[in-house]
Amino acid sequence: MSRVEEMYGTLVFNRKTMQEYLPRSIYKELMTTIDDGEPLNENLANVVAHSMKEWAIEKGATHYTHWFQPLSGITSEKHDSFIDPVDDSQVIMRFSGKALIQGEPDASSFPSGGLRATFEARGYTAWDPTSYAFIKDEVLCIPTAFCSYNGEALDKKTPLLRSNKAIKEQVQRVLALFGEEARHVVPTLGAEQEYFLISEEDYKKRLDLILCGRTLFGYSPCKGQELEEHYFGAIRPTVNEFMKELDDELWKLGVPAMTKHNEVAPCQHELAPMFTNVNRAIDQNLLTMEKMRLIASHHGLVCLESEKPFDHINGSGKHNNWSISVDGKNLLEPGDDPIQNMRFIVMLTCIIRAVDEYQDLLRMTTATAGNDHRLGGDEAPPSIISMFLGDELDRVVTAIMEGSDYHSNGNAKMDLGVDVLPNFDQDNTDRNRTSPFAFTGNKFEFRMPGSAQNLSDVNMVLNTAMADSLCKFADDLEGKSGEEFNKACQEWIRETLKAHCRIIFNGDGYSKEWEEEAKRRGLSNLKDTAKALPALVTEKSYALFSKFSVLNKDEVDCRYNVKLEKYNKTMNIECRTMKRMVRRDYLPAIENYAAELAETICSVEKVVGEGKAKGQRRRFEQICEGAANIHKLCDLLHQKHHQARDIEDGQKKADMYAEEVIPIMQELRHWVDSMEIITERKHWPCPTYNEILFYA
Ligand code: ADP
Ligand code: MG
Repeated sequence: MSRVEEMYGTLVFNRKTMQEYLPRSIYKELMTTIDDGEPLNENLANVVAHSMKEWAIEKGATHYTHWFQPLSGITSEKHDSFIDPVDDSQVIMRFSGKALIQGEPDASSFPSGGLRATFEARGYTAWDPTSYAFIKDEVLCIPTAFCSYNGEALDKKTPLLRSNKAIKEQVQRVLALFGEEARHVVPTLGAEQEYFLISEEDYKKRLDLILCGRTLFGYSPCKGQELEEHYFGAIRPTVNEFMKELDDELWKLGVPAMTKHNEVAPCQHELAPMFTNVNRAIDQNLLTMEKMRLIASHHGLVCLESEKPFDHINGSGKHNNWSISVDGKNLLEPGDDPIQNMRFIVMLTCIIRAVDEYQDLLRMTTATAGNDHRLGGDEAPPSIISMFLGDELDRVVTAIMEGSDYHSNGNAKMDLGVDVLPNFDQDNTDRNRTSPFAFTGNKFEFRMPGSAQNLSDVNMVLNTAMADSLCKFADDLEGKSGEEFNKACQEWIRETLKAHCRIIFNGDGYSKEWEEEAKRRGLSNLKDTAKALPALVTEKSYALFSKFSVLNKDEVDCRYNVKLEKYNKTMNIECRTMKRMVRRDYLPAIENYAAELAETICSVEKVVGEGKAKGQRRRFEQICEGAANIHKLCDLLHQKHHQARDIEDGQKKADMYAEEVIPIMQELRHWVDSMEIITERKHWPCPTYNEILFYA
């Protein structure tokens, strides 16, 4: 066996390990729980816990933790040791079924968006057996859901799991109409992770990177990404060492890291894993992000996961490749017989309806302070949601709507339910990179999510919106069979496509014309987080989530509050960091340089005569003008920032940040940056883009 084969998954309590450590009957019972979502009984849990503990101890674990995702989106853990003192000189290692199934962390410090009063701060964590337990730093980590005392979801995972259930039920209804029985239905996800690596030395010299994860200042580097030499280019030796260690660590954890390469921007890289069920894929992505940050530090590097660490060059996204797996088969794989053909078109139509109908909610899931700087940039989709189907599929959809014949490139005539669908492999879908939601052969790729995001909300909305479309189809078509079903089905497809085809756009999503065209089509364009978040708290949103028991109204409200609060807090931190850097670093540096220039002018003019040091005077004036503007803007920022801070209402506060504070921040940045390029190097207080992005 190769080294990789040997180490792969060694730190995971996966099927193979379970089979090895669990009695046969228990293993089978647990598989039913995992695959079919059957509830877990305590007897079963006791046996599983015991085996899990034995395995973990053999691997050197001393503690366990319920590993969960509070609404902040990052993972949380509290370590409990296995030890159980027998007397004052001995311990035994113990881990009960009860401790496996349920934990009770002190929840009072996690964001709850008003859902849980602090006097009843108890929260519960409950094991999610659909994502495997694993060992990290000698701690057995048990992926769990996190709920309040009353069972309301206080985390990202619970609603996602509920949405998985919703989509499963609706897929089963729809497939039943096609005479198919579906047992295991689960959405699948492959999350491509983009990130930046910079040297720790530079990082430490920049307060903005340390506190905000992104630069708040910096003139564009002399060389950016225009030579396109970084994309897929040879990987720097230090970065290569980092990637190798990362791969090893991830493989041990059973994360199927598949591809790694340099991205377009200097210092930017990407890691793509093999897809898996959405729930496990998100856990794995969070683990990947954690390992990236940690392992970077072993190599004198810092991993920047935020969406737009540097202006003027590309930002980082997290492409959400999504599909639905039914008994191991991909439901979005176009088939090659008439029934599969029709079924595929139904699925496609349902997705088109879901994305159009719930475009605002989907947009909302990608709204964060960091992603606001990325969306609509030259490298990322705009804030308008649209779908790209590719030429071939687009012609199919048009033909269906017009009721005309379809001729594929190979001249195969397609008549719904009669003939054969062309093979939409990836070469046929010409992969419009500017589209936020693109069909890529047998899955959809949602490109709006930002690199720092937890993808749970995205997929929770996607699943629920899709469940809604499938439910509509089933409601409309149930009770019909044979020819009647065929006819009604075709009609349903045609009408639904006609009603929602405005969401399909195959052109350049980055162009100005698209913005205008989208407006004409009535598509929404929610430009920033402050404008995007309210979509969550509309009647339409409440109705969708409650219909499929994914979130009740209180749970929706709490998510909105937490998102709003996070945005406002981030803005507050960025404002404070900006002011601090201007007052303590940039202005003193600029003023020192001005003083030095003044002295030079005096001494030069003593020799050459009054008014003769023209170049120096010109530069001196530029510096003075810049400094004056910076003073003025910093004062203005201070004033507006405090005004925003004093607003009680979270939404109004966010609106003020977005509309009034950010433009001042941009203006202030502009002036500091324009001083950067004329101030003598030795005065400049921190590393510039040229230095940070082109380290050895
Ligand atoms: P790109 O060119 O965007 O990097 P890839 O073809 O490499 O695209 O695939 C990107 C991601 O899509 C990978 O993580 C891959 O595992 C995932 N993927 C492939 N098929 C599916 C599927 N059926 N469901 C979900 N994700 C999938
Ligand atoms: Mg991609």
